[in-house]
Amino acid sequence: MATKSLSTCIFCKIIKGDIPSYKLIETDQLFSFLDIGPLSRGHALVIPKYHAEKMHELPDEYLSATLPVAKKIALALGCENYNILQNNGKIAHQEVNHVHFHIIPKPSESDTEG
Ligand code: 5GP
Ligand code: ZN
Repeated sequence: MATKSLSTCIFCKIIKGDIPSYKLIETDQLFSFLDIGPLSRGHALVIPKYHAEKMHELPDEYLSATLPVAKKIALALGCENYNILQNNGKIAHQEVNHVHFHIIPKPSESDTEG
């Protein structure tokens, strides 16, 4: 399988282990880890092991592997309510120029009690 990496990209460095991360799942195609600035407890990211800036530049084999991994994370987090978010381009709030999918749990009031 074709892989592609960019030496200056922070997410490519996370995949290589050059920048530490809290890893959740790793497959041949994907890497997932906790977001360093979580919007809620368990906020996770899934990234392809292929450096593409935007989703439409990503080969289908990587794209189609993403949702099953996002599903596993959602199941493992046990969250009934969550958002899947994927930003493309600066105006659309993309800060890191390596395709990534957010899994953002939305805790209910009963989840946060006590
Ligand atoms: P974007 O706005 O590009 O869709 O989201 C980028 C996300 O990457 C942000 O939620 C940010 O907190 C996260 N992030 C940026 N740098 C790092 C890092 O070095 N490690 C981790 N774990 N997350 C990062
Ligand atoms: Zn990259």
